[in-house]
Amino acid sequence: MATSVLHIDLTALTDNWRALDRLTAPSVETAAVIKADAYGLGVAKVGRALVKAGVKKFFVAAAEEGVALRAAIGPSPWIGVFGGHMAGDTDMIADMHLVPMLNSLDQITRHFEALPGAPFGIQLDTGMNRLGLEAPEWEAVKDLVIKARPDLIMSHLACADEPDHPMNAHQLATFREMTEGLTVPRALSATGGILLGPDYHFDLVRPGIGLYGGLPYEDSKAVVRLECPVIQTRDVAPNETVGYSNTWTAEAPTRIATISAGYADGISRKISNAAVLFDGDTPCPLVGRVSMDLITVDITHLDHVPKSLDLLCAHQTVDDLADVAGTIGYEILTSLGGRYLRRYIG
Ligand SMILES: *Cc1c(COP(=O)(O)O)cnc(C)c1O
Repeated sequence: MATSVLHIDLTALTDNWRALDRLTAPSVETAAVIKADAYGLGVAKVGRALVKAGVKKFFVAAAEEGVALRAAIGPSPWIGVFGGHMAGDTDMIADMHLVPMLNSLDQITRHFEALPGAPFGIQLDTGMNRLGLEAPEWEAVKDLVIKARPDLIMSHLACADEPDHPMNAHQLATFREMTEGLTVPRALSATGGILLGPDYHFDLVRPGIGLYGGLPYEDSKAVVRLECPVIQTRDVAPNETVGYSNTWTAEAPTRIATISAGYADGISRKISNAAVLFDGDTPCPLVGRVSMDLITVDITHLDHVPKSLDLLCAHQTVDDLADVAGTIGYEILTSLGGRYLRRYIG
């Protein structure tokens, strides 16, 4: 059976990084977040393309992801690990020259004892209550930690995709208070924070989703196109039904195309009877339930049988599809399954 093809435009991706880099002052370093296998697009190819474009600092979520990235991009780039230094990570951190963002007193102790003198960063919690040291803990260890010369002090914004949310200013003020007078480089912003303006940029920014063509970076170029081959077509008479549980009934003579993609490929069943696919510029409604490997599409209005239909393309971004599925572009991207053929452009 033919499988769907995920086209990944590395030129668009590196253009997105350059455009985000231009939104900050030249003194602000623009890193790249390529956790979760580069948001599902392939850490090796994406990593190498970004290195070529000039990226010198990367972030991943866990040490294991750092190992895969290091193997792809070689010894020079700096790789930060948001999850910090967990029990069992020491060899990976040391051998692969990873820089853990230490999140707790336990992690600080572990890192200083296991790898004295090895580089590290610090993550502070400024209100998200997810990762990082809270103010009283930080006060207690700040002097000792600063003496060990961290590469970076960072925190993360909870509401950066809502520019008017008061949480942004609150976290900014908290971050400033917690880092006042220190000479260590600081970082607060992911994609959303970059768009909040220069107050939020500090010394380094860490965009992820904006590189991959997702909101909140509205000016990003589309990076993915998901092309699904048509396996079979059939003509359905009025009152006949299509797919599991008979959820769609033809009202008129209808031509149905069955395409090769389904929920086993990360396409949510929630888009059943709701999404459209594209034949070039022409939308074609998805009818019936999304099944494990197959999706059925109404192509009655086309004057030809297409070889394939696009579920993601310039007309339907990851965020458009996310709206239909009741989720966010991030989840659409990172759900895209391992069964697709991945074809890289650029
Ligand atoms: C995922 C993540 C980022 C990147 O966020 P985007 O919204 O994808 O730009 C940056 N910093 C931290 C701590 C993250 O977890």
